[in-house]
Amino acid sequence: MVDLKGQYEHIKERVNQSVLEVIESTAYINGPEVHQFQKELEEYLGVKHVIPCANGTDALQVAMMGLGLKPGDEVITADFTFAATVEVIALLGLTPVLVDVDPVTFNIDIEALKNAITPKTKAIVPVHLFGLVAPMDEIMALAKEHDLYVIEDNAQGIGASYTSKDGSKQKAGTIGHVASTSFFPSKNLGCYGDGGAIFTNDDDLAHTIRGMVNHGMYVRYHHDVVGVNSRLDSIQAAVLRAKLPNLDQYNSARRAAARKYTEAFKDIDSIVTPTANCTSQEFICDQCDCHVFHQYTLRVLNTDRDALVQHLQCKGIPCGVYYPIPLHSQKAYRDERYNEADFKITNQLVKEVISLPMHTELDDEQIAYITEAVIEFIA
Ligand SMILES: *Cc1c(COP(=O)(O)O)cnc(C)c1O
Repeated sequence: MVDLKGQYEHIKERVNQSVLEVIESTAYINGPEVHQFQKELEEYLGVKHVIPCANGTDALQVAMMGLGLKPGDEVITADFTFAATVEVIALLGLTPVLVDVDPVTFNIDIEALKNAITPKTKAIVPVHLFGLVAPMDEIMALAKEHDLYVIEDNAQGIGASYTSKDGSKQKAGTIGHVASTSFFPSKNLGCYGDGGAIFTNDDDLAHTIRGMVNHGMYVRYHHDVVGVNSRLDSIQAAVLRAKLPNLDQYNSARRAAARKYTEAFKDIDSIVTPTANCTSQEFICDQCDCHVFHQYTLRVLNTDRDALVQHLQCKGIPCGVYYPIPLHSQKAYRDERYNEADFKITNQLVKEVISLPMHTELDDEQIAYITEAVIEFIA
């Protein structure tokens, strides 16, 4: 699904040297590499504060802790996403409210979101699923109207841009009150282990969160709040510093591969290729780089999707099903509050989606081999 080795070959010298320097320096925790990376990422994103942490799940959790969300508060998120999003809501004793998604963008459905808002709702967690920015104009407007926090789960969307209806352009993860990301190796900006970060433009929130990731300490050995231990280590920061200057180029390579896939499938009726527009409503943004293709995910209609997966695997083509089970049907998150009729789209998507290999090193020959194998099965 990804070619981390091929990508490493291009940056090997810089990565090896930086990692060795960290080892020689012995500044393994909170070393200068971490602070430098933080500054460079702030600059890249155009955000006031980046708080590095241990992984993307912690980033989400600490963002919610920082906002002071309390047990009983309702937090709305999409039914069709990776479980980490709902997991931290539940772990903190908050009440997860799962809602259906849009069949074109795979992102949270605005009507479903509207209908789910109650007097107990405190926050919305839009996920920029597969690298496509969620409809932030609509989400921010709803949040304003109902006085809600917006926590962007940007684990899959780093580097994407969003153009608002007023023409202003912002990076994904800098639009809501706070955002989380993951540097898991296969993410668009991945390190060589676990890593994550929180972003915000709010000075007070940044201060609160910086202490929270460090045992709730704002002054050494004074613990003002209950925190966690969640750090990005210096070796991972060194890897990320070597990769960050290439992020736009990595995302362009993903987009180029996506365009080639889509071109190859354009005449096949039973294949729905992914949209590159971040809203399926009236506003269409052609030029806003709002998709960074963390995954290239097809819908296959009237097709035995699992048999297609088998077919591709037999031909040596890795593929993935993200995600095979709606969150509201997962044993850990089932609840009698949910009504199957409210999850029509997610229930359909879990049977139709298939993600093809997507990374920065895909060449035309590989794309041709993959698309031919898909078409051979379907047509
Ligand atoms: C990967 C991912 C996470 C979690 O990140 P980790 O670094 O693996 O903890 C959270 N949300 C989404 C949508 C993800 O894809």
